[in-house]
Amino acid sequence: MTLTDKVCIVTGAASGIGSGIARRFARAGGKVAVADLNLDAAQAAASAINAEHPGKAMAVAMDVSSEEQVDAGVAQVVAAWGTVDVLVSNAGIQIVNPVQDFAFADWKKMLAIHLDGAFLTTKAVLPHMYAQGSGTVLLMGSVHSKTASPLKSAYVTAKHGLLGLARTLAREGGPHGVRANVICPGFVRTALVDKQIPEQAKELGISEEEVVKKVMLGQTVDGEFTSIEDVAEVAHFFAAFPTNALTGQSLIASHGWFME
Ligand code: NAD
Repeated sequence: MTLTDKVCIVTGAASGIGSGIARRFARAGGKVAVADLNLDAAQAAASAINAEHPGKAMAVAMDVSSEEQVDAGVAQVVAAWGTVDVLVSNAGIQIVNPVQDFAFADWKKMLAIHLDGAFLTTKAVLPHMYAQGSGTVLLMGSVHSKTASPLKSAYVTAKHGLLGLARTLAREGGPHGVRANVICPGFVRTALVDKQIPEQAKELGISEEEVVKKVMLGQTVDGEFTSIEDVAEVAHFFAAFPTNALTGQSLIASHGWFME
């Protein structure tokens, strides 16, 4: 399947990885709904895409943890462009703390954005994909879908959970021509990562430089961050894959940090 004129919704696409995926999809000819909690930033990201690819992007206000907002956002996209062909459930945040200090409210917020968000956006797009007999759902996992790091209990739990959702959806969606896969990036230098460098340094009692070199990149084969463009390329590969052979899978792009 090529992405030409395919309708794609990317959540959390106002910045970071989601923004890169939206740009990549538009470059491949897709129409991209930039869905984000931050509408101003989503509009700026959509405008930047439209400047290069006129008419290919729209901004949508959406808190992925709100069923009402998700349903309204998907309805807005369907009203404008007729259907949804590709969903990238990417919106996410990070909160780090040891389990014994992890506030229950923070735990619930993490699971609401990462897991409820993936479930609600998937549930909202499926009727359109099933009606047309085709579609692709991509969930933004992480190396933390496969392994664990200290301080990240909620994140690791949520990212592991996405594998279960994608695999179940692959089985349910198969007869309807709908594929589901998970992208598992290593550390990518975005706002989400920049925020946790000083937090981890404080919690672990090491310097910020050591957090980057040892905690984040110490297990990679070359000491390099994964880039937004790397992750966008994987998303494009999954989204544009021509058959339903590739479903229920997860692909790690992490400079060899985690191998399986
Ligand atoms: P980012 O902070 O740059 O972007 C996240 C975006 O999500 C922001 O635009 C934010 O406004 C939006 N967002 C947050 N809460 C939302 C909500 N409730 N509803 C809608 N939008 C919301 O972060 P990023 O690094 O680009 O992360 C994107 C995804 O990639 C996340 O799921 C993250 O867990 C995952 N990921 C990131 C890395 C990394 O190293 N940066 C690695 C692996 C996986």
